[in-house]
Amino acid sequence: MKQQFCEQCGLPIPLTESGCKSCALEELDEYRIVREYLRLHPNSNAMQIANTTGISISRILRYIKNGSLTMVNDMPNRRNR
Ligand SMILES: [Zn+2]
Repeated sequence: MKQQFCEQCGLPIPLTESGCKSCALEELDEYRIVREYLRLHPNSNAMQIANTTGISISRILRYIKNGSLTMVNDMPNRRNR
């Protein structure tokens, strides 16, 4: 039997599991924090989120790329008159 290891923390993952549990929990936590931040500050970019939450930009970008989060980035405020 092959042993699989977590790509992020390097710990062995039980073959019955599809992924690392502790990393999944951590990511879920971070995802919630980022989502909450974006809810309160809809116009922030990844850099601002990273600075405020302490979560690395690459992770934030991944959450957004995955489609879990929608980021409004410097959207011009155009209003029809
Ligand atoms: Zn892990």
